[in-house]
Amino acid sequence: MDISYLHSLFLESHSVGIDSRKIQPKSLFVAIKGDNFDANTFAKEALDKGASYVIIDNPNYYIDQRTILVENSLMALQELAKFHRQYLKLPIIALTGSNGKTTTKELIHVVLSKKYRTKATVGNLNNHIGVPLTLLSFDQHTEIGIVEMGANHQKEIEFLCELAQPDYGYITNFGKAHLEGFGGVEGVIKGKSEMYNYIAAHSKLAFINLEDKIQVEKSKAFQSYSFGINRENADVVISTIKANPFVAIQYADLLIQTHLIGLYNANNINAALTMGKYFGVEDQDIKAALESYIPENNRSQMITKGTNQIILDAYNANPSSMAVAIENFLQLDNSNKILILGDMFELGEDSFVEHKTLVNLLVKQKDATVYFVGKEFYKHQMSSENLHFFETFDAFSNFLKNLSIDTSSILIKGSRGMALERTLEFL
Ligand code: ATP
Ligand code: MG
Repeated sequence: MDISYLHSLFLESHSVGIDSRKIQPKSLFVAIKGDNFDANTFAKEALDKGASYVIIDNPNYYIDQRTILVENSLMALQELAKFHRQYLKLPIIALTGSNGKTTTKELIHVVLSKKYRTKATVGNLNNHIGVPLTLLSFDQHTEIGIVEMGANHQKEIEFLCELAQPDYGYITNFGKAHLEGFGGVEGVIKGKSEMYNYIAAHSKLAFINLEDKIQVEKSKAFQSYSFGINRENADVVISTIKANPFVAIQYADLLIQTHLIGLYNANNINAALTMGKYFGVEDQDIKAALESYIPENNRSQMITKGTNQIILDAYNANPSSMAVAIENFLQLDNSNKILILGDMFELGEDSFVEHKTLVNLLVKQKDATVYFVGKEFYKHQMSSENLHFFETFDAFSNFLKNLSIDTSSILIKGSRGMALERTLEFL
């Protein structure tokens, strides 16, 4: 298949879609096989709904001259995205890391939008399909593109960098996430560093958080622009960070009061501030942008319900993000603290010990009451006055129904699969 021909059809179309239910008129529909379906079967529906062209990889579904038959639709989408990226030649910032990618991406997006026409990954579309779709969402009016890249195994970031060919990279952190697919923490560092390898090999630039030892060590291999807290050698020196519970940071004479909870978010804010400085956004605009951002989708949201203050962080969880969220919560001045913690998924053989570590951490403190929900935490059940264990969410919700909680501060956090936002109904 001739990729430049395919690209000319793409330019003629108004958008690209892979879901026939949401297909827009005059768009290009790419029929990708999922685990449970074969989108080739939806090609006709997409055309009927007004798609201009459909890309399929099964000749049995050929319809008419609007059908483009390729060897493999997914690969065609990826090749098309790469071609489009080279065609546009715009600067691209790529982000990866274990935690905080989406938050950082959105913060960078609001900051850079103050000066440039910026486009970024929508939501969490950060994988081998989402990255191509993101690249294809950029057009000749886009001045800077921001691409979130997720990974749960080796070579994934390398592949996504080959597609997006970033001019700038940032790795939020190297944490304990997706340990199963990466093969432990060392595997995470190796896998995420594929972005640094790309940056080094192509003489590009990476943004570096000097508070992170691994980033500092790795940065010897490439050009970098850094931020740090009271570090004179940083390009952007932040003087103070506070979280009570909302993060405030001081940079030069700029005090930035955000709507983000948790000191861990200071890294995300500082990264966005640093990119704003690098790309020449005015200080007051950076401040206004960072102060305007309000998190959604259960990511560190602050909710008041009755007399209770709830930090809802039920979007996801892994050992690193759990540890920082708990630490941050316990240091708040509030009284009547309650933690509702759900199982962490995708930890493979480390699951047992990582859940145990958290239980051991919390058994030492007497300030807060903890409710553990899920099979993995349940394995570490013990009798303790302030720790309570529930094997299933149903068991926990039945318990909650008979409990009245008020004037409390509550942290709710667990893996996506635990859907702990359901707890809100019972509070
Ligand atoms: P995903 O892998 O699902 O794409 P992500 O890396 O995009 O996740 P976010 O969605 O931004 O991450 O944040 C998810 C959760 O991670 C937050 O609610 C918070 O608990 C935690 N988190 C965010 N930033 C950090 C950070 N810098 N360090 C540790 N934990 C963080
Ligand atoms: Mg994300």
